[in-house]
Amino acid sequence: MGIEIKKVGIIGAGQMGNGIAHVSSVAGYDVALHDMSLERIQSGIATINGNLARQVAKGTLAEEQRAEVLARIKPAENIDQLADCDIVIEAATENEQIKRKIFSQVCPILKPEAILATNTSSISITRLAASTDRPERFVGIHFMNPVPVMKLVELVRGIATEDVTFDASKQFVARLGKSATVAEDFPAFIVNRILLPMINEAIYTLYEGVGSVESIDTAMRLGANHPMGPLQLADFIGLDTCLSIMQVLHDGLADSKYRPCPLLVKYVEAGWLGRKTQRGFYDYRGEKPVPTR
Ligand code: NAD
Repeated sequence: MGIEIKKVGIIGAGQMGNGIAHVSSVAGYDVALHDMSLERIQSGIATINGNLARQVAKGTLAEEQRAEVLARIKPAENIDQLADCDIVIEAATENEQIKRKIFSQVCPILKPEAILATNTSSISITRLAASTDRPERFVGIHFMNPVPVMKLVELVRGIATEDVTFDASKQFVARLGKSATVAEDFPAFIVNRILLPMINEAIYTLYEGVGSVESIDTAMRLGANHPMGPLQLADFIGLDTCLSIMQVLHDGLADSKYRPCPLLVKYVEAGWLGRKTQRGFYDYRGEKPVPTR
């Protein structure tokens, strides 16, 4: 029997969670958005409002639609308010203990047939699924950042994920207007498995003095036709996130080719995490980004 998704619950109203809420509501789903506090939910909704305004200004969304899209997103201060959701997507902080705790809170209140999905970038779907009461209704739905802009979603089955769950997730992603690619449940899936070692290598290239921040980014933009240089991209992703994905690859695949560059570790230790802290491989505090090396 197929699963009809009408209402989407989202846990975590941060960068990814608010983006998932945004695209789900634009696609016509009712959305319940939960985070640790009402303030965080409201700040997520404020971000969505700003992003919708940008879409209206670009002409990709009608002004009347903006109010409708916002109205369909309801703050769920209490996790119990997700009880009538057909799918709940967890997009909380990338920490296995946090995610397990969330699942232990949300599972008892969900309908038995409801799908539980995670947006994790790097934690094993099978292991997360095994910590819930519904491994067969559990799936990885991995959105790319920024969610309203990026076309791809990686769909990842755990070992126990049933076809009905997978098919419903595929239909959900299609209705969001995204393209799905299927990845097996191995560390970092497909995109990050390939992208992060390239970024890490760019940081090694900087660390070893082969090039400056500017020359490395220019080289890859103009020499490999990448829309953004790898160091600029690292700042955009967040250097803490980059480091944690490299650690997952290193630990999970036990191959020294994934060792995180010491310079990446140093930037993270300094709290220079990229755009979100205004400083990373570039300094964003002035009018124009200035390379920090
Ligand atoms: P973020 O820090 O912007 O947001 C995380 C949110 O989770 C915060 O608002 C935080 O308050 C909330 N949270 C933490 N503990 C919670 C709890 N117990 N209950 C409810 N909410 C809680 O992080 P993000 O970048 O949005 O990442 C979220 C998830 O998406 C992670 O699993 C990450 O791996 C994944 N992801 C991130 C990216 C990216 O580029 N940032 C891309 C794809 C997937």
